[in-house]
Amino acid sequence: MPEKSATGKRIVLTSDSTMMSSYHGGVLLGFAAIMPKSVMPDWIFRSLFCPSAPAGADGSAEIAPCGMRKVEAALLESGFSRDDVMVAHPDSLDRAIGKETKIVGITHDDPLGKIAVRELEEIIGRGPPHNRSKFLALLGHPIIQEHRPRIVVGGNGAWELMGEDVGVDHIYLGEAESDFPEVCRQILAGEEVPHVIRGRAVPGDRIPVNRGATIAGIVEIGRGCWRGCSFCSPTLRTIRHRPLENILEDARVNLAEGQKDILLHSEDVFTYGSSGMRPNEEKVLRMVSAVKGLGPRTIDVSHLSLATVHEGQDLLRRVSEVVGIGSDQEYMSAWIGIETGSCRILEMHMPRKALPGKTGNWPEIVRDCYSLFAEESWLPVASLVLGLPAEKAEDVMKTIDLVESLKDYTGLILPLFFTPMAGTGLGDLKGFDRDRALPEHWQLVGLCLEYNLRHLKKLHRLYSERMTAGPLVHAALTGVNLMADLVLNKYLKRMKRGEPPN
Ligand code: SF4
Repeated sequence: MPEKSATGKRIVLTSDSTMMSSYHGGVLLGFAAIMPKSVMPDWIFRSLFCPSAPAGADGSAEIAPCGMRKVEAALLESGFSRDDVMVAHPDSLDRAIGKETKIVGITHDDPLGKIAVRELEEIIGRGPPHNRSKFLALLGHPIIQEHRPRIVVGGNGAWELMGEDVGVDHIYLGEAESDFPEVCRQILAGEEVPHVIRGRAVPGDRIPVNRGATIAGIVEIGRGCWRGCSFCSPTLRTIRHRPLENILEDARVNLAEGQKDILLHSEDVFTYGSSGMRPNEEKVLRMVSAVKGLGPRTIDVSHLSLATVHEGQDLLRRVSEVVGIGSDQEYMSAWIGIETGSCRILEMHMPRKALPGKTGNWPEIVRDCYSLFAEESWLPVASLVLGLPAEKAEDVMKTIDLVESLKDYTGLILPLFFTPMAGTGLGDLKGFDRDRALPEHWQLVGLCLEYNLRHLKKLHRLYSERMTAGPLVHAALTGVNLMADLVLNKYLKRMKRGEPPN
C-alpha cells in the first residue's frame, strides 16, 4: 500500500488509467478503453492494452496527457508553486491528496464513453465501457470521498458531463491557460464559482511549454480549425499556431524524459503557419526538419485534413523525405476525417471540408489521398460519421461505395454514430442510435469492420516499430487479433446483410 500523504497538494491534476497510459506505445490500443469489462476483463485490459504509466517516487505521473501538462504549466506560470500543484498518478492518489487538497482537476477526452465508437456498446450490449467505469471509479475513489476536494473536469470530453449527475462540481469547457488559474484562486479563496466554466482561447504564443513528458510524445503545434463542420467542437476556436521555439522546447522536454517518438498535434498539421486554405510549405518543412534535428526515433502527425493533403501533395512527399520514411522509420500515421461519401451531406454539414477543392469532388479527393498515402507509406486512420441529420439511404450507399473503393489500402476506418456535442451547431439534437439505423448503416458498419479486421494484422506489425511491449504481449495481441476475427465474424455477416448485429 502506498504511504498516505499527511497533507496533500492544494491542487491535484489527474485522470483515470484509460487516460494515463501510453498503451505500450501503440496509441491504437487505446480503443480497448471502449470495450466493456464483461467482454475484456480488467486484467487483460491492463496487461495487454492499458499498462499503467510509470509513477515517480512521490506518486507523480511521469507521463501525462498533453492537455494536463498544459494546465500544469499554466498554473506554474501564473504563480502557483510545485508545493501547490502536482500531476498525480491515478494509482498513487493517496500520496497526492490529503487534508490540504482543495481541487482535483481531471482531464478527460471521453469520460462517459459518448464519443469513441459509441455503437460498440450498443452492438455488444454487455455493459459500460472501461473508460466510463474507470472515470466513475475515480470520482468515487476513497481518498477523494474522504477529503471531498472540488472536482473540476476539463479536456475535450468535458462537455459529456453537461446535465449528468455524477458528482462533478465544475465542468470546464474550452482552454485552460486563460482562466483556470484564476478559477483555482477563487475556489481556494472560498468564492462562488459557476458549475459550468467557459475558458477563453489564448493566442498561439501563450500556449505554455510543458514541464513534463506527454503520453505518446504529443507535442502541440497549434489549435483550432477554420473548416467549421456543424458537429465538431474545434470549429468553435480560431486557428492559431505556436512559435517554432516553443514546439521544439516541448519536444526537447519529452526526449529528455526518455520519450523516443514525437507526435505533432493540431487539427490539421499541414496548416502550420498558414491561416488560409493553402499550406505554407516552407513553414511546415522548417518545423518538421527542426523536430527531426532533435533526434526522435519516429515522428508522426495526429490529424490531417484530406483537402489540405490534396492541395499540397508535394508537401506530403517532402515531409516523408525529411522524416526519413523507408530509412529511419517504416511509415507515418495520421488521423483523417472522411466522414461521408455523399457530397449532399458534405454540402449540408461540412461546406468547407473540401476547400480549396470542390465539394462535388469529395470522393475523388479521398481516393487521390489514399493513393498518395499508399505511395508514401502513410497509414490513415479515418473516421466516418453515421446518421447526420437528413442522411438518407442513398447517402449511406455513396459512403459504402467510397469505402469499397479504398479496401485495398492499409489503414483503419472507424464508423462513428453522430453524437451531438454541447455547444456545437447540432448540439441540441438527439444523437444517432441503433433504433434509427437503416439497413445501409449496418452494411456500412459491417464493411468497416471487415476492412479493419483485414488490415489489423499488418497494422500490428507496422506499429511494433513504436511499441514498448515485450514478445509475450505481442504474441498475446496476435491471439486477440485471431479471436476478434472469430468472434466478430458472426456480427459482421449479419451487418453486411443489412441486419442489426444482435
Ligand atoms: S475539418 Fe475536422 S477539425 Fe475541422 S471542423 Fe471539420 S471535423 Fe472539425
